[in-house]
Amino acid sequence: MSRQAPCPSDVDGSHAGVSAESGQLRIGGFVPLTTIDYPGELAAVIFLQGCPWRCRYCQNGSLIDPSAAPVIGWSQIRGFLERRRGLLDAVVFSGGEPTLQSALGSAMTEVRGLGFKVGLHTAGPAPKRLARLLHLLDWVALDIKALPEDYPAITGVPRSGEAAWESLSLIQASGIPLEVRTTIMPHWAPPDLETLAAALALRGVRQYAVQACDTRHTLDPLLGPSVIPLAQLAAAIDPAAFDRFLLRGH
Ligand code: SF4
Repeated sequence: MSRQAPCPSDVDGSHAGVSAESGQLRIGGFVPLTTIDYPGELAAVIFLQGCPWRCRYCQNGSLIDPSAAPVIGWSQIRGFLERRRGLLDAVVFSGGEPTLQSALGSAMTEVRGLGFKVGLHTAGPAPKRLARLLHLLDWVALDIKALPEDYPAITGVPRSGEAAWESLSLIQASGIPLEVRTTIMPHWAPPDLETLAAALALRGVRQYAVQACDTRHTLDPLLGPSVIPLAQLAAAIDPAAFDRFLLRGH
């Protein structure tokens, strides 16, 4: 994920009825209300700590270390959500990479029990873990960063692309509403994006969002600014190839 994780602000108090497993969740940030992280729904976003990749453009460097101290406990968030029943529609689990935490399924089950929809932002590095969560999900945003063979140059991790594209197949087979997202590497030229978008369309992706890379706070400080404006890059994509095609950023 590349959206920055804020610190909690108006969340206090706790809830005694939290399961022991959910209580193990390591949380690195919390947004109590957002209109942009789950399409058409008022949502809260929980940013989970830890990621196995090191994307050069990552905006969430503080969330990568899985052992970093949590900034808020699940008990506090659970108490907050209980007070927001009827006011919020959904809870989105983001990161970092949320699927790495074994307590995620338990927390999602609690969220569903409170009557909220469950959304997931994932980069898909752990398809087996993702498969075990699918029955708990109402909507997924999946980062597809590049063609599989081009992933290591972005994430620094061999075979990361194969994992992400396997995750794509799993989500598509489940029928869960899916938005695929790509953050543009600053040096990309129109054919790079055109090739990727065509491959996604061929795989049956219907909702596709392309995001500009904010290079002011990247994990790799040597990553230069974008060479070509997003709109110019995206002109290489045939929007008719998707039911919904979005540009985010500039
Ligand atoms: S997948 Fe990449 S962009 Fe997302 S949190 Fe991990 S390192 Fe950052």
